[in-house]
Amino acid sequence: MTVDTSVRTYKNLINGEWVASAGGLTFDSVNPADVSDAVGRFQASIAEDAVAAIEAAENAFESWKSVAPSKRAEMMNRAADLLEANLEAYAAELTREEGKPLASSRMEVKRSAQTLRYYAYEGLNVSGDTLPSDDPTTFVYTKKEPLGVVTVITPWNFPISIPARKIAPALVTGNTVVFKPASDTPLIAFRLVEALQEAGLPPGVLNFVTGPASKTGAPLVAHPAVRAVTFTGSTSAGEAIHRSVRLSTRVQLELGGKNPLVVLEDADLEYAAELAVKGGFELTGQACTGTSRVIVLDAVHDAFVEKLVAKARALKIGNGLTPGTEVGPLANASQLDTVLSYVAFGEEEGAELVCGGERLTEGEYASGYYVTPAVFTGVKPAMRIAREEIFGPVIAVLRANGFEDAVRIANDVEYGLSASICTTDEARMRYFVEHSQSGMVKINRPTTGNAYNAPFGGLKMSSTGTFRESGRAALEFYTQVKTVYHGA
Ligand code: NAD
Repeated sequence: MTVDTSVRTYKNLINGEWVASAGGLTFDSVNPADVSDAVGRFQASIAEDAVAAIEAAENAFESWKSVAPSKRAEMMNRAADLLEANLEAYAAELTREEGKPLASSRMEVKRSAQTLRYYAYEGLNVSGDTLPSDDPTTFVYTKKEPLGVVTVITPWNFPISIPARKIAPALVTGNTVVFKPASDTPLIAFRLVEALQEAGLPPGVLNFVTGPASKTGAPLVAHPAVRAVTFTGSTSAGEAIHRSVRLSTRVQLELGGKNPLVVLEDADLEYAAELAVKGGFELTGQACTGTSRVIVLDAVHDAFVEKLVAKARALKIGNGLTPGTEVGPLANASQLDTVLSYVAFGEEEGAELVCGGERLTEGEYASGYYVTPAVFTGVKPAMRIAREEIFGPVIAVLRANGFEDAVRIANDVEYGLSASICTTDEARMRYFVEHSQSGMVKINRPTTGNAYNAPFGGLKMSSTGTFRESGRAALEFYTQVKTVYHGA
């Protein structure tokens, strides 16, 4: 076998040193728009590498815990400067590695820098309480302390912003981190680590281990030194992690979604169709908050579907680096298989495929994972395409008999991440907020998108729910409370 030496090899970061895996194997990260394009070569790490990273993080903890919060904040800000200084280059790398259109990649890199700055600030505001004491000789107060080693495991769909919103709050509160990115997107994850490292993190504070979860997952999740695991990914992997963590390890699981957009008869249907297209197709449907179901009141169903289909057909599909591209490729071969399988399930179960759902294989599409945005009508709540996460550009349109029926259908899945309603009726907006079984509710906004300073997370099978990610709430996960009774 010949090895392409023009592809740069990237190493793991363990105890401040860039090192090769003890197993000696590597893997290539490839461009989903052109699978012959290897973006970089990465370490196919084994358990020994993960253990070395955890031990380095464990050894670095006591001194990092004592570093002045303002110094930690300076490092976050410096790393943010580095990301912003390289924004164009990193956005292009993100698109080349993951596939999303360049404008979305720019927003993601920018958001990651913003997140680092936000936690630089929030880290200076971690506070405890002073409590009224019955005993005048005892001063009772609480203080927040870091946990220790935090394992960060992330998916490929937001391959720099999700790591940033986990790593930054972990570090500013004095924890040390072992970070394992998804194997489809290690390059842009490396850029974040590189920026933080160049910003001055001491050795061992942030460690980076790439490669398959089948080899590294067990120690990363269950090693006795790991005090917290923060994971974003599929529900099945989340369940496996939940079963493996030790009693003394905190766990935060951000999982799948089956997010509904409810369209009422008073909605501006043109706008409702825009919301559906943005939420369902913009990131090739590969967002945990993606719109995968649209529940439309009977009276406006046909008019809405006509607008939705027209917009879906007009979308420009292509390489995310090509100007004007609105929908990029799917991120990998298994995503392609999954999406095509669900299109087949939908047809077998009797739904009507009104548009899309075809693999594109000719011309500019020949070496990428391209599927046209699909819309199904006649979908019944019991069908697989109405219940299971597809994580691709497939929208299932369901008909509802009335408003309350629509809300019931919206809630009738095991997930509860994001839910949106399109209406002009204030009373129904409030009813939807009250009755929606989802962690994030949107009114006249797409199911996708979130604010970096607001809590992010779901209900039911979408999150563990105990701790929210993002915003100030995230700091609760990375700190523990110590109660102090200070006598004379
Ligand atoms: P995935 O579960 O296959 O992988 C996610 C990460 O977990 C990867 O780094 C993977 O290597 C690792 N992993 C897998 N099994 C593991 C195990 N047993 N132990 C330790 N690590 C393990 O998910 P994916 O395909 O990368 O991402 C798509 C999924 O992520 C979708 O289900 C989507 O809904 C979800 N997601 C959720 C959110 C959210 O915030 N709720 C955000 C983005 C993506």
